[in-house]
Amino acid sequence: MKLSTASVLAALTAQAFAQTNFTGDTLQGYPIIEYLDLADVPANTISRFWISAAEAQGGLPYFLPIFVARGSAGSLESGRRLSLSASIHGDELNGIPVVQRVFAALRDVVSSGNFNGTVIGIPTQNINGNILNQRNFFSSSNNGFFTNLNRVFPGTSIAEGGSIATSYAYTIWNSVWGNASNVDIAVDFHTLSTGSNGPLWCYADYRLDGVQRLAELTEADVIKIDPGEPGSIETTWVDFGVPAITLEIGPAKNWNQTLISRSQEFVWRLLDDLNMLPSNYTAPQEATSIGLENSYRATNFSTSVAERSGWVQMNVVPLQDVEEGQAVGTVYNSWGDVIQNLTAGASGRVLTVRVDAAVEQGAGVLDIVYNATAS
Ligand SMILES: [Zn+2]
Repeated sequence: MKLSTASVLAALTAQAFAQTNFTGDTLQGYPIIEYLDLADVPANTISRFWISAAEAQGGLPYFLPIFVARGSAGSLESGRRLSLSASIHGDELNGIPVVQRVFAALRDVVSSGNFNGTVIGIPTQNINGNILNQRNFFSSSNNGFFTNLNRVFPGTSIAEGGSIATSYAYTIWNSVWGNASNVDIAVDFHTLSTGSNGPLWCYADYRLDGVQRLAELTEADVIKIDPGEPGSIETTWVDFGVPAITLEIGPAKNWNQTLISRSQEFVWRLLDDLNMLPSNYTAPQEATSIGLENSYRATNFSTSVAERSGWVQMNVVPLQDVEEGQAVGTVYNSWGDVIQNLTAGASGRVLTVRVDAAVEQGAGVLDIVYNATAS
């Protein structure tokens, strides 16, 4: 009795959603939707939609591009639902082609009718940051301020007292990801911030079942076992019980083709692991993996900090092993005098290195990862 009541309610809800999913407008030929109801999306098809995450001052909508690869009809229920999202930080661009190229390469297998499950992709989550060519989201209120969108998920609606930035996150969380109901495994693609260099690495909260497997499938250079950041996309998924990682794809700004290719290859391994691909399927790209045995597992960061503002010259590179106390770089003043000799704060492996010479006091210039449980 309860079950049948629930299914009738579900059917009514689905019908109501279906009536409001499409606004009737299109942009560049693709439908504008108010929220994503996967039941409205055609099977065996890769669909493209726009959704307005918020309206900027002046009434200009921030339209986000949404890919949906839907597999065979029954696989909406029986298959897995994967989210691939990128560039919530507007200067972090390597994840954008990963999402774009995966969907382009999925076209044939999806249209063949042999794709088992659903993939939702948002290649550019922070349109505002992309416009301003920087990390955060600009609000024009109060003479203007910036918000790190990756600290405000799952967001807050305007009705609940949210701001433009928090309601923007709320729209992504609720109207695209259905408050986690549209997704049961997720990867959020990032890079380092502008001004640093680094390898392919991921944050993974091993406390949730499924996250370790997800992290190991990356075959990243470094797996940082990490409790996460409150309000980040990854940690919000984990809080909702959805296995998720943050995959950091090298430096900001310039597309690093090697790391982009390795990230795509990870997605193919993941799709295979989730049984979304036919058994005889061969991923449409050459192997670039380094192998899981070469992933460095670490639990801790050690950060070297510039004590005074000046010009920094680093003399270590990402993935170099260093010893505690080892000289790693020098900070100079405007006369060229040495004002700080930088040393490694721990023995471990170099993760990120500052490459922007202009450095302010208090800024991190080097991150070393190490495993506290191994020493
Ligand atoms: Zn980021």
